[in-house]
Amino acid sequence: MRFCPRCGGTIERRVPELDDRERNVCPACDTVHYSNPKIVVGSVCTLGDRLLLCRRAIEPSRGLWTIPAGYLENGETVEEGARREAWEEARAEIALEGLIAVYSIKRIDQVQLLYKARLTRPEVSAGPESQEVMLVGWDEIPWPDLAFPTVRWVLHRAAELRGRQGPFVPVGNPPRDEGN
Ligand SMILES: [Zn+2]
Repeated sequence: MRFCPRCGGTIERRVPELDDRERNVCPACDTVHYSNPKIVVGSVCTLGDRLLLCRRAIEPSRGLWTIPAGYLENGETVEEGARREAWEEARAEIALEGLIAVYSIKRIDQVQLLYKARLTRPEVSAGPESQEVMLVGWDEIPWPDLAFPTVRWVLHRAAELRGRQGPFVPVGNPPRDEGN
């Protein structure tokens, strides 16, 4: 960040008062522009004994296989984001069964929230970010051709949980707290 998105002033890197690390600070409008990890949401989507994989049409890892996943948008719950990604990447309509993994990827400042889900109808097809989609058996997963380590981790995790009923972690909105 070189210029302040709020006032156009020139950004300085410095430690704000009472803080313990360097931030992007705009001295002109006295705003600290924090940078925090991005949230990725995604799902291992199953149909009976098969699971859904998408071959990526975009970089990074173009041509390799992944699960439907992507950045959470503002104004969206994680569950809505996971369902949206399934639709965008695989034209898949899904019902979330539970959160099965939370991964902190410090190297790239991401937190990934990954669900197990089932397809609510069998039709799937490639969305704009996928070259193709497929439903494969658990013994047909193309392990060497997976796009990211987290895809490998969560598929192992989902395989461990096969046959178990969710939810594994409560999903949805927190109970409303009086006074908040
Ligand atoms: Zn400013």
